[in-house]
Amino acid sequence: MECSACQSNNLVKVSLAYEQGLSEYKGRSRSSGLSLGTGGLGLWGGRAETNGTFQTRLSARLSPPTKWSYWRASKWWLAGIFALWFLRIALMPHNPYMAAEFNRDFVWALDAYVGALVLLCWLIWRYNHRVFPVKRKRWEGSFMCRHCGQILQMGFNEPCYENSYPAARFGKCFR
Ligand SMILES: [Zn+2]
Repeated sequence: MECSACQSNNLVKVSLAYEQGLSEYKGRSRSSGLSLGTGGLGLWGGRAETNGTFQTRLSARLSPPTKWSYWRASKWWLAGIFALWFLRIALMPHNPYMAAEFNRDFVWALDAYVGALVLLCWLIWRYNHRVFPVKRKRWEGSFMCRHCGQILQMGFNEPCYENSYPAARFGKCFR
């Protein structure tokens, strides 16, 4: 197995390099006390350390794919409800007849918005059950060249064609 870009055979599993980056962070942050990672800027010793959100820049680049969060999506959805509500207050006509009509339209919009939540949940479910496992498997089968930094992809035991999936995705594949 060798790197398709520089022919070096100094390859490391991406998942391993990622974990090494995380522990390297922990070792270093103990002395510096302040570190920058994918999670942002923060002081070591707080919640961030236990969450493992701080890491080396390389490790951040090699992060595994994550599942979509229902919680985060519903927070955004709720924020949308408030936005709609403020819009309703702002646009409410003064004429009572027109106000009644406006309210009817608003209820329609609200129904559509609730419907969108169902669709959103379905999309998240689908991503987490169909797309995520494939991405995760691909991540676990990825290698990084220590010489040039190229990310290489194991082709799931498939022969490597120019336009095969891993080649199309990463531009390179194993020989
Ligand atoms: Zn290389």
